[in-house]
Amino acid sequence: MYSKKPGRRFLISESVRGEGAVLLNSKKERFVNELLPRDVVTKAIREEMEKEGTDHVWLSMEKLGKETIMGHFPNIYQHCLEEGYDVTKECIPVVPAQHYFMGGVWVDSDSKTSMEHLYAVGETSCNGVHGANRLASNSLLESLVFAKRAANKISGTENEVKVRELA
Ligand SMILES: Cc1cc2nc3c(=O)[nH]c(=O)nc-3n(C[C@H](O)[C@H](O)[C@H](O)COP(=O)(O)OP(=O)(O)OC[C@H]3O[C@@H](n4cnc5c(N)ncnc54)[C@H](O)[C@@H]3O)c2cc1C
Repeated sequence: MYSKKPGRRFLISESVRGEGAVLLNSKKERFVNELLPRDVVTKAIREEMEKEGTDHVWLSMEKLGKETIMGHFPNIYQHCLEEGYDVTKECIPVVPAQHYFMGGVWVDSDSKTSMEHLYAVGETSCNGVHGANRLASNSLLESLVFAKRAANKISGTENEVKVRELA
């Protein structure tokens, strides 16, 4: 969420766009398909801001309806209200923000780096499963699946755990 206040800005989850929220420019016109991948939407927003000389665009959640907004996004509703915006009735100012990092230390499918005894797991690693653009919520894959694989590999119990899982 765009704000002039100092400090950490509040994250408006992209899932609101998945539910049907739309992005608007300063003339309140749509300028991008909001369901395109994150990097494509980000680029379109930045280009629109540059074209219009603005420091944010607008996000309209109104058509989701109050029930969906309150049911699915109670924190967003509450936070925006505290910022002075009622998202059931009006648009909010938004800008793209970095909230994950793609890349990092190359690892194999067991999270092992090229260095003996060194494993890397999570956002610090690059396991190659995502390509250039991570899909929503997929950091769980790194944080849980690859953490478990690394732990299994390190403790040498990979076969034992797999057998236990199958049983
Ligand atoms: C606002 C926001 C919303 C997000 N929403 C989602 C989402 O909905 N779904 C999703 O899948 N992902 C989401 N992500 C991404 C996800 O949170 C991260 O990809 C994930 O937490 C990375 O986990 P990690 O364990 O690799 O790293 P981190 O969670 O960053 O943990 C790294 C830890 O290392 C510690 N550390 C750093 N340097 C040192 C040091 N020198 N010595 C000791 N400790 C150190 C840090 O303090 C931290 O505790 C979001 C991220 C942000 C910022």
